[in-house]
Amino acid sequence: MLNSTATTSAARLSVKLPHSLKRLADLAYNYWWCWTADQVSLFETLNPDEWERCGHNPVVLLESIAYNRLTQLAIDPQYIKRLNLVVEKFDRYMAAGNTWASRVAPQISKEHPVAYFCAEFGLHESLQVYSGGLGILAGDHLKSASDLGVPLVAIGLLYRQGYFHQRLNQDGWQEDYYIDNEFDRLPIELMRNEHGDAITVELQVRSRVVKVQIWRVRVGRVDLYLLDTNRDDNDSIDRWLTGHLYGGNQETRIAQEVILGIGGVRALQALGIEPGVYHLNEGHAAFCLLEVSRLEIQRTRKSFYDIEAAVRQRCVFTTHTPVPAGHDVFSADLMDSFFASYWPQLGLSREQFLVLGARRLGDPWEPFGMTPLALRLCRAANGVSELHGHVSRQMWTVLYPERSEDKVPIGYITNGVHATTWTAALIGDLYNEYLGNDWATKAVDPAVWAKVDHIPDAELWQRHQILKERLVAHTRSKLKKAREGRGEHWDYIQAADRVLDPTILTIGFARRFSPYKRGDLLLRDADRAMSIFANTDRPVQIIFSGKAHPADEEGKRIIQRLMEWCKQPGIWNRVAFIEDYDMHTARKLVQGVDVWLNNPRRPLEASGTSGQKVCFNGGLNCSVLDGWWCEGYQADANGKGLNGWAIGKDAHTSDQKLQDDIDSQALYALLQDEIVPLYYDQDEHGVPHGWVKMMKASIKTNSPAFNTHRMIADYVTQVYAPGAVTEVGRSLASIPS
Ligand SMILES: *Cc1c(COP(=O)(O)O)cnc(C)c1O
Repeated sequence: MLNSTATTSAARLSVKLPHSLKRLADLAYNYWWCWTADQVSLFETLNPDEWERCGHNPVVLLESIAYNRLTQLAIDPQYIKRLNLVVEKFDRYMAAGNTWASRVAPQISKEHPVAYFCAEFGLHESLQVYSGGLGILAGDHLKSASDLGVPLVAIGLLYRQGYFHQRLNQDGWQEDYYIDNEFDRLPIELMRNEHGDAITVELQVRSRVVKVQIWRVRVGRVDLYLLDTNRDDNDSIDRWLTGHLYGGNQETRIAQEVILGIGGVRALQALGIEPGVYHLNEGHAAFCLLEVSRLEIQRTRKSFYDIEAAVRQRCVFTTHTPVPAGHDVFSADLMDSFFASYWPQLGLSREQFLVLGARRLGDPWEPFGMTPLALRLCRAANGVSELHGHVSRQMWTVLYPERSEDKVPIGYITNGVHATTWTAALIGDLYNEYLGNDWATKAVDPAVWAKVDHIPDAELWQRHQILKERLVAHTRSKLKKAREGRGEHWDYIQAADRVLDPTILTIGFARRFSPYKRGDLLLRDADRAMSIFANTDRPVQIIFSGKAHPADEEGKRIIQRLMEWCKQPGIWNRVAFIEDYDMHTARKLVQGVDVWLNNPRRPLEASGTSGQKVCFNGGLNCSVLDGWWCEGYQADANGKGLNGWAIGKDAHTSDQKLQDDIDSQALYALLQDEIVPLYYDQDEHGVPHGWVKMMKASIKTNSPAFNTHRMIADYVTQVYAPGAVTEVGRSLASIPS
């Protein structure tokens, strides 16, 4: 019988709570609460200030809250009523048997669930084991899988310090620092055996055996298992193997990927879980294919080449980057030092082994690539948008010399976002009223979204304005703290309270500061930018946020340019940069902006998801036609945007400078000729009806397509279901969007 501290952790916490509040402990240990609006407010009500201070971590909140306050609420009939309603909803949710997946894909069973591997998971800001888009997508994947009842378990790593935190110094230069995740204060549980000892698996990392322990995170009905080497019976260096997300050098990287891939398969085995499908979300986890093969060889006593097809039948792969350098590769030397004792267990020679990861056969200098390995040993492979599918087929034709590009077996399933995670409660309430209480479960149905037309303009606009005010408040408080932290002048700290104005047209731009995302494209013509933003009649303001990878000097320079811009006299109150982008700031931004700006160098954005979050809240996208926006954007016969705006054309040149000029000019023109006039065309009550019409068009057209319920349904029916796909590339490539 397997156990976890789950019961003990929640039980230990509940002992400290007054009788009528005990179930709060169960809720605190399941992230279901974070996508259930009434539940969030249940924690917040306990003590709003403490809730902010503890980073929205319900376990810390409940541990630290004054007993006085608890006893007060324990006899507050209003609060108890709310709590009991949520608990009832939670118990019903957890117990539900008749789910979408049980009806549509009964062949995916609880006995043989999907095992979803990813290097990062972004469930909530209180669990810092994510860096950006890939992690958020994985988090949303789990939430929708839970909602739809898909039997799925997930495997990742529990990083001692997560991804780096960002601080900007007085020169606007990014400084990196780390904060310890205190595992025993997180809503997670160590998996233990019947003797109460941690369940561990062992694996060889270079010359040493490393012990890995397993933590469980409850995500509704889905369990996420996170692997951790920070044990005192490991060598002190090995305890840091799971120290940082995307930190360290190639050697750390390969070690982490060995732990994720090989350790992950062993962990599932140790937990008694026998997956029916292994889903590798990005190449980081591809070593899992080797371990699945090794186990199959051990079981059948056949050769690698005899079991290869059976392994392939169980494994599927999603690739996430159109940037060639974004695909992990390891030198043959590095592979030797990690796998010299492993390939004999597969019955392979060194050459036979290394060829599995080669891009080009017959080149002895080829490094070992995780994507080629995954493409060779998975039955299905997909990119994350239609355009990205196309780019991926182009990029990997090299592996399929006998095929034409359009026959390369990589399809696409366009990314989405989890609706109730990203929709503001204020807007969600409107949807409850006008679309029906089940709008979120029916998020894929365009007929549900068509009812958005019934919402009176003024009502939608008023709620949107409130959210914008909250965004302004959030930004000011972040600015103030950052300025205090850097020891800025007192006047400048106080001035943070006068930055931004919620009545002004507000643009948001937040994402990783990789150079290809062109965070400073808007500054290309500084005078023109100034004339738009500092315009006295019809001003515009913009909020930036995002980190540059610690090794990315160019990305850091882009941030520095923006910080300089923020200090310019004519514009200091129209531009803000929020430090240390995370899911909390992301929610405030996507829920509060009028316009979401995205101007990557086409076609380097695989999908992008932040713009999709904006749609659910009525914000409008202004984006280069890249990633998902190629599928989302709709124009009228004259080429004018109906549900947002397209910067430039559905094409690109290979001349970067020229392209930057074209795109920045197109962006200025859009702002001056279309976006600003439409926003400021308001009636006597300040409602811009033309604008609200576009908000509604955006909600109606984008929401049904770009949510993770639709995405999970695609994965289940087209990828996971056994026998659904024999050769995925061909059938996936023909999926209508
Ligand atoms: C949604 C999100 C992302 C991904 O945004 P992109 O549009 O893919 O760049 C990154 N970070 C956070 C915190 C997010 O919430």
